[in-house]
Amino acid sequence: MSFSRRSFLIKAGAGLAFGALSPAILSAQDTKKAKSIISTHPKLQCDVVVVGAGPGGVPAALAAARNGSKVILVEEDNMPGGAPVDMYVTYICGGPRVGAFQRMVKKLNDFHTIGGEACDTFGNAGQDGKNHWWMPGDYAQVIYQAIAAEKNITLLCGAPVVDTIVTHKGNRNIVQGVRIMRNGELQDIEASVTIDATGTGIVAAMAGCEYMFGSEAKSDFNEEIGIEVADGKIQPCTLMFITQRIKRHAVLPVDKMKGSSGVEDQYDWVRAADKEAMIKRDAGIYLHWGKTVYCKDTRDSLLVAEAQRKALEGLEENMQILHEAGYATHIAPKIGVREVRRIKGEYVLTQRDLSNGVQHDDKIADASYYFDVWGMKIDEKLKRVPPYGIPYRSLIPVNTEGLLLAGRIISATRIAHSSLRVQPICSNIGEAAGTAAALSVMYKTGVRSIDIKELQANLNANGLFNGFRKTGSKS
Ligand SMILES: Cc1cc2nc3c(=O)[nH]c(=O)nc-3n(C[C@H](O)[C@H](O)[C@H](O)COP(=O)(O)OP(=O)(O)OC[C@H]3O[C@@H](n4cnc5c(N)ncnc54)[C@H](O)[C@@H]3O)c2cc1C
Repeated sequence: MSFSRRSFLIKAGAGLAFGALSPAILSAQDTKKAKSIISTHPKLQCDVVVVGAGPGGVPAALAAARNGSKVILVEEDNMPGGAPVDMYVTYICGGPRVGAFQRMVKKLNDFHTIGGEACDTFGNAGQDGKNHWWMPGDYAQVIYQAIAAEKNITLLCGAPVVDTIVTHKGNRNIVQGVRIMRNGELQDIEASVTIDATGTGIVAAMAGCEYMFGSEAKSDFNEEIGIEVADGKIQPCTLMFITQRIKRHAVLPVDKMKGSSGVEDQYDWVRAADKEAMIKRDAGIYLHWGKTVYCKDTRDSLLVAEAQRKALEGLEENMQILHEAGYATHIAPKIGVREVRRIKGEYVLTQRDLSNGVQHDDKIADASYYFDVWGMKIDEKLKRVPPYGIPYRSLIPVNTEGLLLAGRIISATRIAHSSLRVQPICSNIGEAAGTAAALSVMYKTGVRSIDIKELQANLNANGLFNGFRKTGSKS
């Protein structure tokens, strides 16, 4: 089956996440929505509401607050952190590691280094091979501390956003906030600016924004990498896990384990051939890219849950091998989902932009990481990406007011997304989105009409563009 360009640009609302459900279930959900339309908890008001406390959302909230906005940061999990906390994606790729992200990593490095000396360099541009990882709960702790230090932020965890508050003017959707679910009832949060940092783009989708999902054809955006005919496929999901030596002198049985690459603290990749080195190194705690499975539609939480069940089943043999070898295993509470919606914005960032290292006039973030599309073979030469810039226009959904995008859901092709989805880049985008939101509130301009030069100057003053300067300093 071939997909036309039109068919992967999906107008939210039409068949959003319900594609796999029967008509009977669909009508039951509609009825429930109609019944619960009246908010029963007192309405909350703020300048900026950020949905999602992951690598994109936390820096967005911190930056908006630092620039004088009253911020509500909403997270459906009980803890902030996003993928590093609930999916155990605790290893950092790409860069530059600047601003709020750099401060977070410094704290992790100073206080939470596992089983050894703190590493005094953790990479600047993200391409120097120096990496490191920390325990998921330690991320959450450092993030809690950063949020608590910012008096302008109210953090609401355990608060899934289930609807948006939207009015319409002509062909424009005007987003005025979100609705969270508490104890079976709704609560409205009204805001001048809403930031979607959900990693799934569900807020933008609920607000009626157009979005992209799955593989495009190369010709759709004049790209050099990709497939000839769009097939709508997405990257596979991976259930991450951590192992920990519990029997003295136990050696990680990497030669027996199937398909689970790992990395020890002190950033050494673990391979069967490393056995001697493994015994000498002694943190004894490893992060693993566990079982990788395909999920047909990551927009549908039921299908994601089913993918997680399959992944868990697929890990059984390795878990047994590990336990027999003297290792405890900690499996992530949520399967890692690499790809969901990309919201269509005023500019769609493409592979050529990245390959050519384009620095757009409205650049709001530096970025660098290679094209990393799981499940797609890419020529090694074409994979490489020089430092490039993220344009502000990619954070503004088309035909929409009052909404900004942060993190990996920004407007980009699937190939471009495979580079910018890594955590430092999501964080840099988030910090820019939060700053832009605060400027829009301060000058009452709306997010489309802020002074881009002022935004860039603000980000520059906060070190966001320091990553690729040749200062010789370690970040
Ligand atoms: C298996 C896997 C391996 C990866 N490996 C690496 C790696 O090695 N290094 C690297 O740097 N990056 C890696 N990544 C990529 C990176 O982790 C993600 O792309 C990044 O975390 C995206 O950040 P985000 O803030 O956009 O989204 P997320 O991290 O997904 O955060 C979004 C937050 O929004 C919350 N949320 C969602 N919906 C709602 C709602 N309706 N209401 C309230 N809250 C909501 C979620 O609970 C979550 O906390 C990997 C990703 C995966 C899945």
